[in-house]
Amino acid sequence: MARKFFVGGNWKCNGTIDHVKKIVTMLNESEVPSEDIVEVVVSPPFVFLPLVKALLRSDFAIAAQNCWVRRGGAFTGEISAEMLVNLGIPWVILGHSERRSLLGESNDFVADKVGYALSQGLMVIACVGETLEQREAGSTMDVVAAQTKAIAEKITHWTNIVLAYEPVWAIGTGKVATPAQAQEVHVGLRKWLSEYVSSEVASSTRIIYGGSVNAANCKELAAQPDVDGFLVGGASLKPEFVVIIKSATVKSSD
Ligand code: PEP
Repeated sequence: MARKFFVGGNWKCNGTIDHVKKIVTMLNESEVPSEDIVEVVVSPPFVFLPLVKALLRSDFAIAAQNCWVRRGGAFTGEISAEMLVNLGIPWVILGHSERRSLLGESNDFVADKVGYALSQGLMVIACVGETLEQREAGSTMDVVAAQTKAIAEKITHWTNIVLAYEPVWAIGTGKVATPAQAQEVHVGLRKWLSEYVSSEVASSTRIIYGGSVNAANCKELAAQPDVDGFLVGGASLKPEFVVIIKSATVKSSD
């Protein structure tokens, strides 16, 4: 089953109203492959979601960068999945390594969030990835499998999930995984899905790579058979994001 190339832009905690308007204008004016070739989702900070929703072209979708683990209520500072749905935001990024490491989000907590977000009708970009220490200790697959297993135990269907493999050592560091390193982990994740979930889920779930993707390295990464797209941080704030979106054509020209 063909997996549509997916490119997500994670704007993280960046931007002002003017800056956001400039990025959206740049995206709106860009020429990119059609929707049947690539799915594009941008993820602004919460406060800019309505603005981006009002201005962004209709063939690009929007993701929030996080949401609360349960129904809203007395949880100061949190944003609930219901609020995102109410706002018409279809996607949410969950389990990003910055939240796992800086805010102490555990595998179980992330998995609970994924389960709850899906139950409310959101689509989820679920992030997994190892630290440099874990890679050097040879435990990359164990780490990403444990993160994926926690999620698998909390959900009943995978249709609305994109799995983002984001090695922590490659995020925001300029140190990108080699195409071979990315492919190896993506294959490992697909094998894990096949063994512990189903072969159908393994072949249909999109596994995207994230970690210092830019205009110069995206084509070679996109050419890997199990790399189904990207989650892009720093470069998603720049015109080179369009070049990354265009790397989807590497797949369609197979
Ligand atoms: C990210 O934040 O998901 C990410 C991959 O960041 P960067 O592209 O800046 O490494």
